[in-house]
Amino acid sequence: MQAKASKSGEKPCPICGKPVVEASKPFCSERCRDVDLNRWLSGSYAIPGKPTDDEDAE
Ligand SMILES: [Zn+2]
Repeated sequence: MQAKASKSGEKPCPICGKPVVEASKPFCSERCRDVDLNRWLSGSYAIPGKPTDDEDAE
């Protein structure tokens, strides 16, 4: 894990990696927030560290 020094010490935008803006947390802009939303809606959003097919392992 990299710990780049940030002004506010918060994580960067998960979409483009730019500094997060207070008004658009946790994204840098509404545009990136919309991108993230579309990922959710398209069902291709994978949550790190949370496997979806873990109820019936082979
Ligand atoms: Zn962004």
